[in-house]
Amino acid sequence: MQAPLIDPFQRAISYLRVSVTDRCDLRCLYCMAEQMTFLPKAELLTLEELDRLCSTFIGMGVKKLRVTGGEPLVRRGIMDFFRAMSRHLSSGALEELTLTTNGSQLAKYADDLAACGVRRINVSLDTLDDGKFAHITRWGRLNQVMDGIAAAKAAGMRVKINTVALKGFNEDELFTLLDWCATQQHDLTFIEVMPMGETGDRLDQFWSLKDLRRSIGERLSLIPLAERTGGPARYVQVAETGQKVGFITPLSHNFCESCNRVRLTCTGELYMCLGQEDRADLRDAMRSGLSDGGLEDAIRRAISLKPKGHDFDYSRREVAGQMPRHMSHTGG
Ligand code: SAM
Ligand code: SF4
Repeated sequence: MQAPLIDPFQRAISYLRVSVTDRCDLRCLYCMAEQMTFLPKAELLTLEELDRLCSTFIGMGVKKLRVTGGEPLVRRGIMDFFRAMSRHLSSGALEELTLTTNGSQLAKYADDLAACGVRRINVSLDTLDDGKFAHITRWGRLNQVMDGIAAAKAAGMRVKINTVALKGFNEDELFTLLDWCATQQHDLTFIEVMPMGETGDRLDQFWSLKDLRRSIGERLSLIPLAERTGGPARYVQVAETGQKVGFITPLSHNFCESCNRVRLTCTGELYMCLGQEDRADLRDAMRSGLSDGGLEDAIRRAISLKPKGHDFDYSRREVAGQMPRHMSHTGG
């Protein structure tokens, strides 16, 4: 066992999020442009490279691995990768293997994912209305996602719904979403829209979760929970239903001081912070024939560059801290 990964601010890095593709079968308005130019295949980490890198991180103390994208379930052979990673669950080195998905392919893969030891998944869903879903995703079909969620539940996985709070889009569905999740026993987390990629006016889209939370509080009693995941989410319990609701508030409140995570892009760049440019190119290091020890040193050097936090800020009525990268490249 290696020495744990500790960054310059004494934060232990135990959580790796890995984007396995920049491609997606949807085109959510806040995430992608309609005409996206995707990366040539040779740029992407192969499944073997993904395995080597993730396994190295796990050997260095990463306990939680989240697979994301783009849409992870559209990557060819992705189940081979999940099967490969499940060996680290069996050995006890990894505590949790999970994914974030748009749910469109979940009906097909739910049983296989459960068999690989995936116990919880996040499904992104911003509306329960067919027409609005087709609009926000540009061409998605809501019933496909609903079938996927049902399949995940039937396979024994716990589902958390991730909803991006969008002004003028899903404000009117706040209580519909809460009720549906309570009935279905899904956890629900709201996310503030972040300035990633050039996809429209963020200030127009931005619905502060402070306001959203206040609106819920006018009808329901919210009990703050002490639970922390080392990320930007804070949780409450709705007294009336017992359901758990999360708020990811990178804009109205950041929680960088307890950040425990780093992100690996589908091209093998390690980003130490979603909202900063500090990164290390691990793909080129690997492709130049670096030894396992050399790769570990490269990872340690990268972690020593982890910045204190991001600079996203809309408070001056302009977008500050804008990142040119799309979320689908870095992995949301
Ligand atoms: N395709 C998968 C999905 O939609 O769940 C995984 C990748 S997606 C980039 C991960 C999460 O990022 C989704 O919940 C999505 O809603 C969120 N997201 C994408 N762009 C965002 C943005 N600009 N601000 C906030 N959240 C965003
Ligand atoms: Fe695809 Fe997820 Fe981005 Fe939507 S949020 S376009 S589903 S990657």
